Amino acid sequence: MAAASDDSRAPENVVVIGAGPAGLTAAYALGRRGGHCIVVEADTVVGGISRTAEREGWRFDIGGHRFFTKVREVEELWHEILGPEDFLLRPRLSRIYHDGKFFDYPIQLGNAVKGLGLVESFKCGVSYVWVRIKRPKNTDTFEGWVASRFGWRLYNKFFKTYTEKVWGVPATEIQADWAAQRIKNLSLWKAVLNAVTPHKKTNVTSLIEEFEYPKLGPGMMWERATELVLDQGSEVRMSTWVTRIRREPGRAVAVDLESPGGVCSELPVDHVVSSMPLAELALILDPPAPEDVQQAAKGLHFRDFLTVALVVPKDRGFPDNWIYVHDKVKLGRIQNFGSWSPEMVKDGRTCLGLEYFVFEGDELWTMEDQDLVALGKRELSAIGLVREEDVEMGFVVRMPKAYPVYDEGYATRVETIRGFLADEVPNVHPVGRNGMHRYNNQDHSMLTALLTVENLFGEDYDTWSVNVEADYHEEQVGRKGEAQRVGTGRSAPVAPTKA
Ligand SMILES: Cc1cc2nc3c(=O)[nH]c(=O)nc-3n(C[C@H](O)[C@H](O)[C@H](O)COP(=O)(O)OP(=O)(O)OC[C@H]3O[C@@H](n4cnc5c(N)ncnc54)[C@H](O)[C@@H]3O)c2cc1C
Repeated sequence: MAAASDDSRAPENVVVIGAGPAGLTAAYALGRRGGHCIVVEADTVVGGISRTAEREGWRFDIGGHRFFTKVREVEELWHEILGPEDFLLRPRLSRIYHDGKFFDYPIQLGNAVKGLGLVESFKCGVSYVWVRIKRPKNTDTFEGWVASRFGWRLYNKFFKTYTEKVWGVPATEIQADWAAQRIKNLSLWKAVLNAVTPHKKTNVTSLIEEFEYPKLGPGMMWERATELVLDQGSEVRMSTWVTRIRREPGRAVAVDLESPGGVCSELPVDHVVSSMPLAELALILDPPAPEDVQQAAKGLHFRDFLTVALVVPKDRGFPDNWIYVHDKVKLGRIQNFGSWSPEMVKDGRTCLGLEYFVFEGDELWTMEDQDLVALGKRELSAIGLVREEDVEMGFVVRMPKAYPVYDEGYATRVETIRGFLADEVPNVHPVGRNGMHRYNNQDHSMLTALLTVENLFGEDYDTWSVNVEADYHEEQVGRKGEAQRVGTGRSAPVAPTKA
């Protein structure tokens, strides 16, 4: 990519929608090359899903955010925005919590046998032998696929509850692709073989052991980025929604904004860099997009997310960054923010982030905050991690559209919208995660923004080619030469769908 410099070819009248990682990266990269823009952010805080929420002096993430990337430009940018004194290098530890015991993640045979005990391990073995004799009827579903490889007993213990929590549908309605991607070709038999013949493990890729983390959470990065963008002379308008994109044949010409109190204004545009959900973008065009594009937009779905942050005595925490909860409670994962950064906790206390995967408007989403805090306390106590009376205070943060869902037909819908935008409003540039309806982490979201800015200066990068691999990103795959072809250290795109 081109070096930073003042550039007389800088595009004018650029509006950036969203002050999350993608939007702020676009604004900053533009500013580095002498351009200016107006960033319009609907929320009161910057960082989007990568914000750090702050309540009564406690800082916590929307799910812990690891800074890990194989994209050199992104890594350099992180370190340009924050100094070395702002970064911590953190060890990664995450385990499964089930029935009062911790199990390694991913599951290791020896550790599992130790945790389950000999009798239960034997029963799991028998269950596996049985499933080899009488195979599940439908192995195209998540349930059938996993049960056929691990037996029903292990499936019920370690796979079913968590997966159903994440996607909010029965495991019989989730496609096997999700399991195939996460578990690859592992089975109980292969796990046994791996355990007894350690030299055969060589082709099993390892989990990322360390990652960087800003000492005050990911929001620190985006708060600082906002300051830099302002220093460059661009504007950041908070609490302001882009509600309409006006177009003429072949281009967008203006965006309508709405601020608190219903104050409306219009900005003329030569370019719009949009990190707002692609599904919403396609529906605010004026004149409206054709019916098929609107239908495609309405057919894109999301899984939403809420965090209940509870302050507890430090010794009630755990060394893991997070643990997966495979018990029959509603909570799916628990972060210990004290394990992410000692600077985010204080006075002998730590902050636990209880994560609930929800749908906007469902029972949990609409529950009063105090009831959610009470639920969080009850659940922590029910699984035996923290007693209710040990919780000093609690806060709730809801995050709509946390996960773009890859369901059946989603790719065609995205393609329909993308094709229409490219043909009819080529000066509207989708970037980021929901902006492209793609399971992008910060780094890939930022890369799409960096490439888009290059395109504003006349380059011709295909931003849609970023993060197209379907590899299991939790694994550290070998360097393949090209940034967009390697994993980033988090879960991969998924395909939950009705079977
Ligand atoms: C639980 C969880 C854990 C994660 N962990 C990691 C991790 O460990 N590492 C990692 O790198 N990534 C992680 N991610 C992914 C990361 O959060 C996203 O990749 C990143 O925030 C996407 O950036 P973005 O700018 O594209 O979108 P967003 O963060 O969604 O920001 C978009 C912004 O646009 C604004 N907006 C939307 N509509 C409008 C409108 N009409 N007008 C004005 N503004 C609008 C929104 O308010 C928002 O601020 C995680 C995500 C989740 C859900």
